[in-house]
Amino acid sequence: SAITNHMPTAELQALDAAHHMHPFTTNKELAEKGARIITRAQGVTLTDSEGNQILDAMAGLWCVNIGYGRPELAEVASRQMRELPFYNTFFQTTHVPAIALSSKLAELAPGDLNHVFFAGSGSEANDTNIRMVRTYWALKGKPSKSIIISRKNAYHGSSVGSGSLGGMTYMHEQGGLPIPDVHHINQPHWWAEGGEMSPEDFGLARAQELEQAILDLGEDRVAAFIAEPIQGAGGVIIPPATYWPEIQRICDKYEILLIADEVICGFGRTGNWFGSITVGIRPDIMTIAKGLSSGYQPIGGSIVSDEVAAVMDSAEFNHGYTYSGHPVAAAVALENLRIIEEENVIGHVRDVAGPYMKKKWEALADHPLVGEARIVGLMGSIALTPHKDSRAKFASEAGTVGFICRERCFANNLVMRHVGDRMIISPPLVISTEEIDTLVERATKALDECY
Ligand code: PLP
Repeated sequence: SAITNHMPTAELQALDAAHHMHPFTTNKELAEKGARIITRAQGVTLTDSEGNQILDAMAGLWCVNIGYGRPELAEVASRQMRELPFYNTFFQTTHVPAIALSSKLAELAPGDLNHVFFAGSGSEANDTNIRMVRTYWALKGKPSKSIIISRKNAYHGSSVGSGSLGGMTYMHEQGGLPIPDVHHINQPHWWAEGGEMSPEDFGLARAQELEQAILDLGEDRVAAFIAEPIQGAGGVIIPPATYWPEIQRICDKYEILLIADEVICGFGRTGNWFGSITVGIRPDIMTIAKGLSSGYQPIGGSIVSDEVAAVMDSAEFNHGYTYSGHPVAAAVALENLRIIEEENVIGHVRDVAGPYMKKKWEALADHPLVGEARIVGLMGSIALTPHKDSRAKFASEAGTVGFICRERCFANNLVMRHVGDRMIISPPLVISTEEIDTLVERATKALDECY
């Protein structure tokens, strides 16, 4: 018989455990507990199979920027599926959704980022970037420039290439990552690693590690530097103000391509269309996904500068995905961008929800369990600590307190994620001030229950 929302939770969980392998999960442990089953969602609220109404302070996986349940996107998808459900963009063909979306992205992206290479996800887009920057330098007669510098604790995806760019050691321990010619420098995480230095000095020192790496590896061997404007999955790590200007200076000085991974920061998350605008950089390539379609369809891509495109366009790039520029995904993304623009969603983040949330969020730093509480736009984090002044870590195994706190959030109908002992949020950008009150109330209650 059909498997539907109406089946008892335990039966659905048993089928899930029997047949579904979850990403980033010890499936054996999950099978004993039973996965949470989300059945529907509206606005910022999820409903689970037990009928609980849960505030989703993670917007799914940092992606449902315009909130759940927008019928316009469903209508566009249905119309596009009837008209042209699929056609490829490989063999000298194109279609209107790909033309319209690439044109719109060229208009929205800063500077001369005017050209889009589509992918199905952020991981795929970063794989494109690896091959693109190396091909770019080869076409310019400098094939030795193949090293990509990235950062420890960065997240750039989970494919072999993008997982290698990422700096998650637990990922590198499995499956043969990283690929050759990827080099990782330290992250600008002042609270955890800054010691006695001021945030400003620390930001400069960490940026200068890029210059040192270029000098050590050889300027003629380094192709690009990739980073998220604000590290997301690493724990929402907001760099000191001195960091990004110095990185830009170094990339300019040594002619290193700068790739901004905007998969989380893009499409309003930081209060501007792109995180690069918020932190004041001029990338040569931006990785996009997630908020591009608000997660309603899987789509990603690389937006590249006139200069990079001019070089790449001079030869065949032997690269592409069946779903590059998928017409249904592109049409849905375009409708999502129309909603963000016409409903002034970014203005809401910048002028209403962002400032309102910032005040309440930063006040969490007064909680006895919280070391720092920071937020930019609508991506924020708190660090849990047994001792605020010394910025100490819990003696327990890394992340135990964060895990307990996440479970207490869920018991209070709030989805927050933990990265080690950091708690992070990234709610839908359309969240109202009343919903922010509820979010912070529930987070505070969860913290009280952990203390
Ligand atoms: N880049 C960043 C900054 C991300 O946060 C993610 C996913 O969380 C990715 C890339 C990978 O995107 P995807 O999961 O769509 O492959």
